[in-house]
Amino acid sequence: MDGMDTTLEELYTQYPDTVKKNRKKHIVIKSEADVACPQIEANTRTIPGIISQRGCAYAGCKGVVVAPIKDMITITHGPVGCGYYSWGTRRNKARADSTTPKDKIYSQLCFTTDMQEPDIVFGGDKKLARMIDEIVAAFHPRGINICSTCPIGLIGDDIGAVAKAATERHGIQVLAYACEGYKGVSQSAGHHIANNTIMQNVIGKGNERKPGKHVINVLGEYNIGGDGWEQERILKDCGYTVNCVMTGDASYEDIKNLHLADLNLVQCHRSINYIAEMMETKYGTPWLKVNFVGVEATNESLRQMAKCFSDPELEKQTEEVIARETARIEPALEQFRKICRGKKAFAFVGGSRSHHYQHLLKDLGMEVVVAGYEFAHRDDYEGRQVIPTIKSDADSKNIPELHLKADEKLYREGNEYLNLSKEQFEALKKEVPLNYYEGMYPDMKNGDIMIDDCNHYELEELIKKLRPDLIFTGVRDKYIAEKMGIPAKQMHSYDYAGPYAGYNGAINFANDVAHTLTTPAWKMIVPPWERIEEPDTGKQEGANDA
Ligand code: SF4
Repeated sequence: MDGMDTTLEELYTQYPDTVKKNRKKHIVIKSEADVACPQIEANTRTIPGIISQRGCAYAGCKGVVVAPIKDMITITHGPVGCGYYSWGTRRNKARADSTTPKDKIYSQLCFTTDMQEPDIVFGGDKKLARMIDEIVAAFHPRGINICSTCPIGLIGDDIGAVAKAATERHGIQVLAYACEGYKGVSQSAGHHIANNTIMQNVIGKGNERKPGKHVINVLGEYNIGGDGWEQERILKDCGYTVNCVMTGDASYEDIKNLHLADLNLVQCHRSINYIAEMMETKYGTPWLKVNFVGVEATNESLRQMAKCFSDPELEKQTEEVIARETARIEPALEQFRKICRGKKAFAFVGGSRSHHYQHLLKDLGMEVVVAGYEFAHRDDYEGRQVIPTIKSDADSKNIPELHLKADEKLYREGNEYLNLSKEQFEALKKEVPLNYYEGMYPDMKNGDIMIDDCNHYELEELIKKLRPDLIFTGVRDKYIAEKMGIPAKQMHSYDYAGPYAGYNGAINFANDVAHTLTTPAWKMIVPPWERIEEPDTGKQEGANDA
C-alpha cells in the first residue's frame, strides 16, 4: 500500500495544484481494510489539455451499439472524417441466418453524407433525405439509422424530421440519433442515446418468440472477432435458445422481439445497462450480469443462469458442458500457464473489459496491478448500490432519461418469466445477483490501483514505475506502451485476433498472450529510462571535430 501511495504521489508532482486535486479523485488504491470501495470520480469532463484516451458520443452510439445491427444501414451524417474513422474498427462479425439473408447484411459498409462547406452553410437535411432515397432504391434495407456528428448539431439540421418524413415515404423505420460528439464527456453518452432510441422505437414491435424452453438475450456483447458465436455455441449446448446477441450479429428483426425472452444476460454493463433496466421496468424481464471471459468466470455465469430457471435437466446439462469443455481445454491452458504465470499486467480499456479480462488473466496465473476504464461511471467501479448517490451534473442532464411505465398488456412479474413462485424468486435473489452488478473493486487485490480516464502522461509514468510485462489497452494507448518496449494487446478489436470469450476464446487468448510475451522483438527494444546517457561533451551533434 505504502509503495503504491508513494508511486502516485510521485506521479502527481508534475501537476499544478488544481489538476492534482482533480486527478487524485479519479484514482483509488484497493485496501482490504476498507469495507467498501472509496468513492472514485468518473463520467466527468477530462481536464482540457490532458491527452485522454476517450472517444466521443458519436463513437459510442454509432461505433459500439448501432452499427453492428446487420440488417440496418447506418448513415453518418457529417463530414467524412468521423464516418471513415468509425468504419470497421470494431470488427463486429455478422453472418446470414434464418432471419437475415446474405444480401441483407450491411454492417461492413460505410455510409456518410460527406458534408462539404456549402452544406455546412446552407444545411445538410436535403442532402441527407436524398441519400436515404438512394439507399432505399439501391439496397432495400429493413431499416436505417442516422447518426449525427458535431457539425450537424452546430448547424441545427433537424434529423428527426428527415427521419420521420423518410419513414412515411418508404414504409421502413428510419431512426435518428442526436449523438453529436460533444453531447457527453465520453462515448458513454452515445451508448445511452442509442439505448434510449432503440428502446423507444424498436424493442416490443415484434411478436415472434423463438421456440425453446428457456429463451434468453445476451445484451452488451458485440461479437468482436466472433465472441458472441462462441457464447451461443456454449449456451445452446446447455439447453438455451439465444433470441438475440445485442448488438453483435444482431438483426433489426431480432431486436424487435427482444421483449419475448425469459432472461436478459448483461455482458458489458456500461453500454447496455440502460436497456436491461428499461426492459425490467416496462416488461418485468429480469436481468443477470454475466461474464463469459475466462474459464472460471464462464463456469460461474453458466451455473448462476441454471439456478435462475430451477430446472434439474438444465442444471445437469450445464454441469456436463462445464466438465466437457474444461477437460478439453485444460491441458492446452496448462502449457500456456508455464509462460504466463507470475507476469504482471495493466488493463486499461473501455466498457467492462478491464474487469472481464482480469478473470481470464487470473486463470493463466497473471495478475493485474492497474485497471481502469475510459468511459465508466462510478457504479462500474464501486457497484450499483452507489447509483442513487450519484449527483446529476449538466453533462448527464444533456441525455434525456426515458421515464417508462409498466406495459399494460405485456408486463409480467420477474418470477413469472422464470417459472418460479414469488417465494422461490425471493430465495433466488439471495443466491444469484439478479438485476445487480458489484463493480470491479471487489475483484482487485490489496494495493492494486483503479484509475479512471487515465491519460497519456499517467500511463507513461505508471509503466516506468511499475514495469508491467504486458498491457491491455484501447485503440490509442497501445502504441504509447509499445514504443516504451512493453508489449500491448489492443482489446477493442483484439489486434485482428479472437474470439477471446468462452472456452475456445480462452485458448486463443492464452496462445496470443504467450506469443506476445515471448516475442524476441521486445528484448531488442530498450525503453528510454534504461538507456545509458552519453556524457555531455558540450559539442553540438554533427559538429566537425577537425
Ligand atoms: S468529436 Fe465530433 S467531429 Fe470528432 S469524431 Fe466525434 S462526432 Fe466527429
